[in-house]
Amino acid sequence: MDNGIKIDTLIVNASELVTLDTYGGRVPFHGKKMSEIGIIENGAVAISGEEIAAYGGTHDLLSELEIAGDTRITDAKNRTVTPGLIDPHTHPIFAGTRELEFAMRIRGKSYMEIAAAGGGILNTAKKTREMTLEDMTSVSAPFLDRMLSHGTTTIEAKSGYGLSTEAELTMLLAIRYLNQIKRIDLIPTFLGAHEFPAEYRGGGEDDYIDLIIEKMLPIVAERKLARFCDVFCEVGVFDIEQTRKICLAAKELGLKIKLHADEIEPMGGAELGVELGATSVDHIVEISPGGIAAVAGSSTIATLLPGTSLFLGKGKFAPARDLIDSGAIVALATDFNPGSSPTTNLPMIMSLGCVAMKMTPDEVLAATTLNAAFAVSQGEKVGSITVGKQADIVVWDVPNHNLIPYFYGESLSSIVIKKGKIAWRKD
Ligand SMILES: [Zn+2]
Repeated sequence: MDNGIKIDTLIVNASELVTLDTYGGRVPFHGKKMSEIGIIENGAVAISGEEIAAYGGTHDLLSELEIAGDTRITDAKNRTVTPGLIDPHTHPIFAGTRELEFAMRIRGKSYMEIAAAGGGILNTAKKTREMTLEDMTSVSAPFLDRMLSHGTTTIEAKSGYGLSTEAELTMLLAIRYLNQIKRIDLIPTFLGAHEFPAEYRGGGEDDYIDLIIEKMLPIVAERKLARFCDVFCEVGVFDIEQTRKICLAAKELGLKIKLHADEIEPMGGAELGVELGATSVDHIVEISPGGIAAVAGSSTIATLLPGTSLFLGKGKFAPARDLIDSGAIVALATDFNPGSSPTTNLPMIMSLGCVAMKMTPDEVLAATTLNAAFAVSQGEKVGSITVGKQADIVVWDVPNHNLIPYFYGESLSSIVIKKGKIAWRKD
């Protein structure tokens, strides 16, 4: 197939090439289709510049392609090749870790006792507000490197620990800057409605919502600092009406919607997300049967965060099986944040998807590649090994994809390719 395309990199002999290209890579997988991940044995992928130029069986591809003398050839014998992983829900910028809170929770301390001792979102916010843009980027950069080493090539990154106009904008600027300097792509989300800041609690809540709608959102939209607007819709945080109001204002300004929904109480957050045409509803541990039906009948993606359930020791996980069996589009994310899910390891989340939520290894791979790409509105560009898509690819040190979630908690990525270039490799 020599069309004058110069092949810069060729990955050959992969014991499994998992493409996620079954339906051309331009639509997410609904429900049972999440198992149709597209496996080619002894597979090969050709990269030209930043794009995937061709893929297929190694013998076929080698006979079709014109290989130049300077084409870099990677032998993936006994290894698995997949698209780069996508983490569609993270909070990667924050001041301070919360290990004290972790130990207190293990000892059975209440949320109020923890907050009084310096835990909780508001305490992280208090410290994050004091950070400069430089502080934020230098604290976050090593976490992004760790994500990349686990095979993650794109993440969604939220603000939400600033909770003032200036601090929220600084967070979004830090995300923009990190996107420019790091190999991993960051898709920015404005989460000014993560919590009511201390100075607005006890009567001033409506004023804070006005501040978000009248001041923060217009600046965020005008400077194109975020792609999405997210709201923590939960009992004691933003109720359904407040969430709807913020989201409608955000949509009016051209932002897409994500929701933290039905995490602790079933309050109809998932249904609201579907009503608003949200790109995703996230958490949904307590989603109602009506909520499952609403999400399953829509294009809103269910982004599940089993790491949070594990780390908070709740013993209850989102109903992934019901969602998939009902036809929903399911994605998985780390929810990386200092309070409830301090892990950058998306393959570990895949393991949890299997063990704690009864998803199959095929489904968890679909949930962290193509479906996750659509959960951050990047499905046209990444998430599958599709000709013409960006060459974001992981070579794993295992001979089949089932072993990625099987060896739980391990780092099995061997080579991570971003935009056609090696961005990370083991040793
Ligand atoms: Zn979150």
